[in-house]
Amino acid sequence: MTPLTKTHRTAPCTRWHLGYAAAVTAALAACSPTERDALEPVSATRSAITPCSAGSDVRNLPTSADVTSAIKDMVYRTPGPIISRFKQDGTPNPKFPSGKVVVLPFETPDFPRNPAITPGTIYSEFFPAGTLTGLTINNYFYENSWGQFQIKNGGISDWVTLSKNLKDYVGFEGDDQVPRDVLKKANINWAALDTNNDKTITPAEAQIVFLVANGYSAATRGFTSWATGSPVALSSLANVTTPNGTFTFLPKVVYIGTKKASDPAYATNPFRIESTICHELGHAFFNLPDRYAAGTCGTGATGQYDMMSNNCSWEHFTIYDKMKIGWIQPPILDAHISQCVTLPASEGSKAALVLAPPPVSASPKNEYFIVENRYKPASGCNGCMLFTPANGVFDTGLPESGLAIWWVQTGGGVNGYDDVRLIDASKGSIDPDGTTPIGGANPGYVNQGLGALYKQDGLNHILVDSTGGWSLLWFTAVSNPGYNVYAQF
Ligand SMILES: [Zn+2]
Repeated sequence: MTPLTKTHRTAPCTRWHLGYAAAVTAALAACSPTERDALEPVSATRSAITPCSAGSDVRNLPTSADVTSAIKDMVYRTPGPIISRFKQDGTPNPKFPSGKVVVLPFETPDFPRNPAITPGTIYSEFFPAGTLTGLTINNYFYENSWGQFQIKNGGISDWVTLSKNLKDYVGFEGDDQVPRDVLKKANINWAALDTNNDKTITPAEAQIVFLVANGYSAATRGFTSWATGSPVALSSLANVTTPNGTFTFLPKVVYIGTKKASDPAYATNPFRIESTICHELGHAFFNLPDRYAAGTCGTGATGQYDMMSNNCSWEHFTIYDKMKIGWIQPPILDAHISQCVTLPASEGSKAALVLAPPPVSASPKNEYFIVENRYKPASGCNGCMLFTPANGVFDTGLPESGLAIWWVQTGGGVNGYDDVRLIDASKGSIDPDGTTPIGGANPGYVNQGLGALYKQDGLNHILVDSTGGWSLLWFTAVSNPGYNVYAQF
């Protein structure tokens, strides 16, 4: 690690020395975000900072020698309520989902079936892999996991016809009565999915998707028998009679609307919003939280750069979620190493970098940063598309491409989740979680849209912690968006 010895500063923020973290923090607190970005440990003027253009691939960087096992455990494990491939000790988690998905279409007198939904169209939407002419839900997960997770056909039932109107079910999308009535009739081989023959279908054994002929449903709901945080647990799916025997169902269930036959697109695009299916399965498989605010796509602390916030269009899961699920363990640096590094686009390359505050930093020890290159055209689902659109496949809803830097506070979110924020480059170096809740006057980074990613700007940037103080980490010389982005860390 490079010794922290440089001395610099300009008015109005007084002279500081990197060895005096507390003094630096105090000095920086008096500066505006713009002044902070001008403040860095480099004496060059802004215009003199040119982007760097070559350096080690982050995938080959060693983790800093003095990063403790406690920090590694916090970063790589400690997923909170998120379901990880690994237990805390690093061994495989038997509760991790198998990827099997059961799809159950049902109709009611008030919401008759869309005849375009058949076992064949359901299969085509969810399960195929390999080179295809269209998107599949499977390929979304395949790309997001860098080939480590695929969804599999756990069974597709014929249409189930209920005799009662949907509007007459009290608490639909929350109550157990609709799922019970559908499961009672659906022709699924649950015994084959119940791998340990305990008459209980666990989240590891299968996920369950109900296709609702109402044209609008998009929800995931849990049950009291498997309480796993948000969304709140509801009634029980214990001892449900099915044509295949009596089973207890523990997984959260997903409701997805299919277009009504009156919709002009009912036949050509019969599922309501394909990206939202991936969002809901993010809840069901991995217990990922909703990150939008006030129920609006693309809002909240991860803004328009996260499928768990912006499910109205195609975005990847955040690099944070991919790491907590256990698909990537980026190297951890705990100092500014003064090296230009290469960040390949994370859509196609298993590449990212974690930055932890140096041991001498006064920053809270439960905070760190993750860096990734989001480049929309790089999403090609590993060549899955016969004719990949020029602007990519599964990250096309991003407002822009560029260097994404995420701030994480372990345990800082609601319901045991971490607080995860995309640092908004357009706002400069501010207290990431602000001083008020997200809806308040000083929310920190929130509702990130155009301008949130870093690109060539001639500036140095410091990374600020939740106290508003400087973590002692900084970066500079960022290049413009591309399959490779270069920056000095
Ligand atoms: Zn959701």
